[in-house]
Amino acid sequence: MKPKLVRTLAALCRETARWRAEGLRYAVAPTMGAIHSGHTELVAEGLKRADRVIATIFINPMQFAAHEDLGKYPRDEEGDVRKLGQAGCHMIYVPNPEEIYPEGFCTTVTLGGPAKAGLEDKFRPQFFDGVTTVVAKLFIQTGADCAMFGEKDYQQLKVVTRMAKDLDIPIEVVGIPTVREEDGLAKSSRNVYLSKPERQQALAIHSTIGHAAERIRGGLDLQSAMTLATRTLLALGFRVDYVTVRNAETLAPPQHRGEPLRILAAAWLGKTRLIDNVGV
Ligand code: AMP
Repeated sequence: MKPKLVRTLAALCRETARWRAEGLRYAVAPTMGAIHSGHTELVAEGLKRADRVIATIFINPMQFAAHEDLGKYPRDEEGDVRKLGQAGCHMIYVPNPEEIYPEGFCTTVTLGGPAKAGLEDKFRPQFFDGVTTVVAKLFIQTGADCAMFGEKDYQQLKVVTRMAKDLDIPIEVVGIPTVREEDGLAKSSRNVYLSKPERQQALAIHSTIGHAAERIRGGLDLQSAMTLATRTLLALGFRVDYVTVRNAETLAPPQHRGEPLRILAAAWLGKTRLIDNVGV
C-alpha cells in the first residue's frame, strides 16, 4: 500500500477529519527518518491498536546542540516512505519546518521528574526541551488516540508519557521493546556512523548491562554491579557517560527493595554515542 504523504497541517487535518467522521481510531509514530526495523515495529504495534497509523518524519533542530550531528544525520525520504508503506503505514506527515516552528515561535513546556534524572538531560541539556516541544505539537496536530515510542530511548519514553499525562493531552503513550541486531546491538539510525571495528565493539554495551542485570537478580548489590559494568565498558574502549540503575518508572535512584529497576547506559565509541537499557 502506498501511504499518503502530507507536508502541511491543513492536509494532515483533512485526512484525520475523514477518519474521525468514519469512526476510525488512529495511532502516530514520531520519527526522525532513516527508517529501520525499530521504527517499523512502532508502525506494526500501531496497526494492532488502531485502524490507521500515521508516521511522522521531522529532524528536529531544537533537540540538537550546536556541536551535535544535525548536519550529518542520515536522510533518505524516498527510502523512508517506501519502508513505512511496506510496514502498513497509512499516512506519513513530513511537516514543512514552518508547521512546527512558525515565525515568532517562542513557547516550550518546563519539564521536571524523569526529564531531570541526571541521565540524557545531564549530557544533552537541550535535548528534552526540543523533544517534548515537537512531540507535544505532533500529538496536538495529529489528534491521534495513541502514540508509539521505543523503549530504546527509555528516558524519552518516560518523559513523553509524563508530559502527556501532566498536560492532559488525550493520547495513550505506548512503549515498544527495543529491536536489536542479531548480536544484541540496539538498532539505531546512528549505527551507520560506526566503523567496522567499532561496530564489533558496540555489541558489548548490551551484553555488559545484560550481565549486570543478571548479577543483580543473582543478589549482587546495585553499586557493585554498576561499578563492574562501568569498568568493563572502560576496559573495552568505551568513554562512559553513565551506567546506572534506576526506578523503572520515575528514573529516580532506587529507594527500597522490590521496586521495578532499569539499567540505563550511554557511552561513546570514537565519535559515536550509543545508548541502551535493560530491565532487571
Ligand atoms: P528516532 O527516529 O531515532 O528519533 O526514533 C523514533 C522512535 O523510534 C523513537 O520512539 C525511538 O525510541 C524508536 N526507536 C528507535 N530505535 C528503536 C529500536 N531499536 N527499537 C525500538 N524503537 C526504536
